[in-house]
Amino acid sequence: ESSETTKLKKMYNDAAHLFNHILVNTSMGEQALDYLHKRGLDDAMIEEFNLGYAPSKELLEAFFKEKGLDHQLLRKSGLFVEMQDGSFKERFQNRVLFPIRDPRGETIAFSGRLLLKDDKKPKYLNSPETVIFNKRKVLFNFDKAKSKIRQYKSAILFEGFMDVLAAYRAGVENGLASMGTSLTNEQIYLLERITDRLDICYDGDDPGQHATARALTLLEPLTKMKLGVLHIPEKMDPDEYVKKYGEEKFKQLAQSSHETVIAFYMRYYEQERNLANEADQLAYLADILQQLAKVQSPVERDIYLNQLAKRFGIEKINLESQLQTYVNKLG
Ligand code: ATP
Ligand code: MN
Ligand code: MN
Ligand code: MN
Repeated sequence: ESSETTKLKKMYNDAAHLFNHILVNTSMGEQALDYLHKRGLDDAMIEEFNLGYAPSKELLEAFFKEKGLDHQLLRKSGLFVEMQDGSFKERFQNRVLFPIRDPRGETIAFSGRLLLKDDKKPKYLNSPETVIFNKRKVLFNFDKAKSKIRQYKSAILFEGFMDVLAAYRAGVENGLASMGTSLTNEQIYLLERITDRLDICYDGDDPGQHATARALTLLEPLTKMKLGVLHIPEKMDPDEYVKKYGEEKFKQLAQSSHETVIAFYMRYYEQERNLANEADQLAYLADILQQLAKVQSPVERDIYLNQLAKRFGIEKINLESQLQTYVNKLG
């Protein structure tokens, strides 16, 4: 490890502890601490994830210069935005900070959530790419979750950091989130080495459901992991679900409401259609059969062909023959 890498990691870890101190022990952090408590995070969780608060006051430059760090290193850290006149402004201000850690648990970046809604600013802001932070390679909470993932042979992918935290306090500790993007090859590789199952638990709202379909389409040709979906009802996200129904109910949901990929598509494709109408029925069946064509297991295919035959009053042999045309098209 180069000395620059070591120094940058030290900077991030020092900054994380400073911002945690601001959040937990100072009047500058009071409002943010109150906000996190209202969102259901207790002090133990805040410590465990080393959450912090970056106030409006500029703290970091003086903090680092006092430690003797040079200008060049400060520039490379990505913790500052350089102004026209060459001066530094702190990148994260008035934001609750989620430390992003490498697999060994060292902080290498932040994601900061606005404390107060501001339509001119992004709700979440991430650190830029640096020598130590490549967002394609990082999964939030991988450092803590990896032993549980190995133990359960299963990982859960959430949309947001707050969802990972909500699941964690409900006792679902094998949760991860990417950095607000779809999974990359590097992240898939990271997971494949320790699990053979991955469940997608994105938000139950329409954007979340569309993102689930996109994630499955992306993942299927790239991985041998068994894919599934955990569906959150009432268009909620996991964090909202825990807030409304409690930790115990969420834990039950995570254990019992697992959908296969085809079960997900059956629900998903139905949402946009009126299945009393024949044109919609045909389009729906075409969509499902195309997904089913990607399923290798003849037993799994048979289960869904039987369901469809029964539900729509169609001879199974006709569904099979249409399925075969889609299988042939896949090549
Ligand atoms: P919260 O519960 O704190 O309001 P959320 O996680 O429910 O946030 P969503 O709008 O569902 O927020 O977005 C899911 C994830 O997408 C976020 O956790 C974040 O990683 C990313 N994200 C959301 N908004 C932005 C943004 N403006 N810029 C970058 N990433 C974003
Ligand atoms: Mn969302
Ligand atoms: Mn959400
Ligand atoms: Mn949310």
